[in-house]
Amino acid sequence: VPDSLAYLDQIAKFQPIAVDCQPPILWDHAQGVHVFDPYGNKWLDFSSGVLVANVGHSHPQIQQAAVNEIERGNMFSYCFPSATGAILAKKIVDLAPSTLNKIFLLTTGSETTECAIKLCKTYGQSIDPNKKIIVTFINAFHGRTMGAQMAGGAPQAKKWIGTINTDFIQVPFPDGYHCKERSFHVFEKTLAEMNITPKQIAGVMMESYQGGGASFAPEEYVRKLRDFCDNHDILLVFDEVQSGFGRTGKLFAFEHYGVIPDMVCLGKGISSSLPLAAILGRSDILDQYGPGDMTSTHGGNPVSCAAAIANIDILIRENLVEKADEIGRFLFTGLKHICDKYSLFIGEVRGRGMVYGIDIIHDETKEPYADLAFQIVQECFYQGLLLFAPVGYGGATIKICPPLIINDLQVAEGLQVFEESFHRAII
Ligand code: PMP
Repeated sequence: VPDSLAYLDQIAKFQPIAVDCQPPILWDHAQGVHVFDPYGNKWLDFSSGVLVANVGHSHPQIQQAAVNEIERGNMFSYCFPSATGAILAKKIVDLAPSTLNKIFLLTTGSETTECAIKLCKTYGQSIDPNKKIIVTFINAFHGRTMGAQMAGGAPQAKKWIGTINTDFIQVPFPDGYHCKERSFHVFEKTLAEMNITPKQIAGVMMESYQGGGASFAPEEYVRKLRDFCDNHDILLVFDEVQSGFGRTGKLFAFEHYGVIPDMVCLGKGISSSLPLAAILGRSDILDQYGPGDMTSTHGGNPVSCAAAIANIDILIRENLVEKADEIGRFLFTGLKHICDKYSLFIGEVRGRGMVYGIDIIHDETKEPYADLAFQIVQECFYQGLLLFAPVGYGGATIKICPPLIINDLQVAEGLQVFEESFHRAII
C-alpha cells in the first residue's frame, strides 16, 4: 500500500504551498459519487472533484470513449483535424440557441475567459478604437492567467498586478447579500461614478452564477444588462466554466435568465473528466481572426473530446439535468433545515440544482467566519463527507456540489453527516 503521508509530504516539499489547500486525502480512485484513498477509506463526494464530475466519477462510457481514442492513437494536437473534435463541436452547437453557432475548443477555463476578453476587445476596436473596456464583477472568478485575474477578484486583492490596467473595471455583483441593491441602476451608477461611457465598453463578462457563493443575479437585472449591451454594441459574455452542463438544473446556466449571450465560456463539467474547455459564440465574433491566429496546442485534443461526447450523451440519456433540478430541491430543503438550526452562524444559503453556497459568519459581528467554515469542512472530512475548502468572500463560504447522479438516499446521508459535523465544529 503506498504511504499516503509520504506522498503528501512530497507534494508539500516539491510543489508550491498554494497547491496545498484541500483536505489531505491522497486520491487512489473515484467511482460514481465516491472517492477512495489507498487504504480503502471512502468519502461521499459533495465536491464533484471541484465541480468537474457532473455525471459522476469514472463513468464507464467516458472511460471507454477515452480508451478507444488512445488505442487508435488519436493523441495529437488540435493542429490536424479530428473526427472526434468535429462531432463534439456539432453536438454542442446543436444543443445551443441558434445564434451561438461556432465553438472554439480549448483546454482550461482560464484560456476561455482570456480568449473571450481578446475577442471582445478586437470586436470593440473594429467599431471604435476607444471601445476597449471590459466590465466584470467584484469577487468574480475567471481563472488564474493574467487577463483572467485582472477581470476577476476583489480590487484590493490585485495589488500584485502593479499598474492598474484601466481597460478592466469591476462593478458590484447584485447578489442581494454583499450588494444589497439588486437593480440594474447600480451597474449604470457605478459606470457614471467612474466616468465611463457605454461607448468605451467592448464587453461585459459575468459568471452565470458568481462561483464563490453560488449567487445568481436577478433575472430582471440580466435582461436589462442584455438590453444595455444591445443598445451600445457591447458583447455580453457568460462565464459558465463552473455552472454549465446541468450543474444548475439547466443545460446552460444562462437559460435561467431568459437571455442569450454573445459568447459562453465552458469547461469543467463539459467532459466530467479530462481537461477540455470551449468558447461557444456567434460566428461573426469567433471568426474575427484569420487561419492560424487563434491556437492552443492541446485545445480540443481528441481524447478529451471523446470523453466530452460520452459525457453529454450520458447527461441527456439519463435526464441528469432534470434530476439535478429535482434532487437539488431536496438537497436545498435539507440544507436550509440544518442552517435554520444554526442560524446564528449562517449569513445565507443559496444556489440552484446541484450547487449551493453557505456563508458562515460570526454570530456577533456577522463578518465571514473562515475558521469555523474550515472546521466544519474538516469535521465532514473525518466523517466521510468530502467538501473542498471554503471559498468566496472572506473564505467562509462552504460549497455543496455533488455529482448530478446522486440519489435521494445519498443526499440524506450527506446531509446527516453535514449536520453532525456542524454541531461538532461549534461545540
Ligand atoms: N471561470 C470560472 C467561473 C471558474 O469557476 C473557473 C475554475 N474554477 C475558471 C474560470 C478557470 O478555469 P481553469 O481552472 O480550468 O482555468
